[in-house]
Amino acid sequence: MDDCLFCKIIEGKIPSSKVYEDEKVYAFRDINPQAPVHVLVVPKAHYSDVKDAAKDQALLGYLFAKCGEIAESEGLKNGFRLITNCGDDACQSVHHMHVHILGGTKLTDKMG
Ligand code: AMP
Repeated sequence: MDDCLFCKIIEGKIPSSKVYEDEKVYAFRDINPQAPVHVLVVPKAHYSDVKDAAKDQALLGYLFAKCGEIAESEGLKNGFRLITNCGDDACQSVHHMHVHILGGTKLTDKMG
């Protein structure tokens, strides 16, 4: 996608703080962290949100498995939270499917 921020990050056209990369996924630190550890994990293929990404359920499973591995590599031994915002009511601001990994502190029990 020509006009997608995260596609440009994946392609290296916009700088990012890379945490992990393989042939299917790219992970980098959120520019506006909401927790001591805040990593975004994105599929390299462009899908607008998790519903769109359900076209490739094997990829979704792979991406979520990678989230667990990345959380472990970030030292989140005591737990972490995964969030994927989908659509306006969830305040999705970047329309390239991504999972937020949040951790490194005791997170609020209020998720809404
Ligand atoms: P969402 O609101 O779920 O769509 O999340 C988008 C996330 O992308 C937000 O947490 C932003 O802080 C983050 N973000 C926006 N631009 C950048 C960037 N250039 N590098 C890293 N994270 C970004």
